[in-house]
This record gives sequence, C-alpha cells and structure tokens, in this order.
Amino acid sequence: MSARNTVQRQIIQDALRTLANHPTADEVYDAVHEEHPSVGRATVYRTLGRLADEGEIGRVRINNGADRFDHQSFAHYHVRCTSCGRVDDVMIPLLDNVDEAAEKASGYKITSHSLQFDGICPACQRNEASPA
Ligand SMILES: [Zn+2]
Ligand SMILES: [Zn+2]
Repeated sequence: MSARNTVQRQIIQDALRTLANHPTADEVYDAVHEEHPSVGRATVYRTLGRLADEGEIGRVRINNGADRFDHQSFAHYHVRCTSCGRVDDVMIPLLDNVDEAAEKASGYKITSHSLQFDGICPACQRNEASPA
C-alpha cells in the first residue's frame, strides 16, 4: 500500500470520527474536501468501501436510502428517524438467540443479522409537540 493511500485512509477515518453520527459517503467527502481539496470524491467512496470491507469501520445499510458509515466498527443496532433521517446507535445487547432460531428455521449457517429500528427522534418529537 502506498504512503499516499495510508494518508488518505487516515484523513478519511479522522473525518468519520469527527462527523460521528453515521454520515453518508457524500457527507464524509464534503468534510474531507474542505480540509484536503486534493482528495477526490471517487477516492473517498472507494476508501470508505475498503475500510468497511476490512472491518475498520462500520457500514450501515439503510432501507430506501444511501449507506451510512460508522467510526464504530463493532456490531450494534441503529435507529433511523423517519422525519429528519438522522441515524443513531441503539446500544442494546445483540440478539444472539435469533441467529440460532433462524438457523433452525432455515437450515442456513447464519453468520450475521441486521436490524434497523425506525422512529421519531427526540428533536422531531419536540418539534411536533410545539406548533411552529
Ligand atoms: Zn428526527
Ligand atoms: Zn453506529
């Protein structure tokens, strides 16, 4: 791997950590581009994909939406606000027993499952409660 690649990976991971809260690739690109105008959009997309494939970062697949990226690579659940689209962590224990149940029901060797919660975030709940 070239030194340039290593630097780009570092820049992109730093941007992801700073943005927190599960940005899209476009949002990561905007943040990176502001500080490092020489890093192109294709590089950001490609690097995010590679980092996710290698397990360095998390990739959150959103139903009917662009993938989000997560500086926390360990397995955890997410909730998406159906009103404003923000994505937050849901830190509850992983449901290990559903993998077992799915194996029994399907005959598959289950390697992972994904679960996305949908709801209304606290900020949107407040906005709905107080008429504009
Ligand atoms: Zn919201
Ligand atoms: Zn997360």
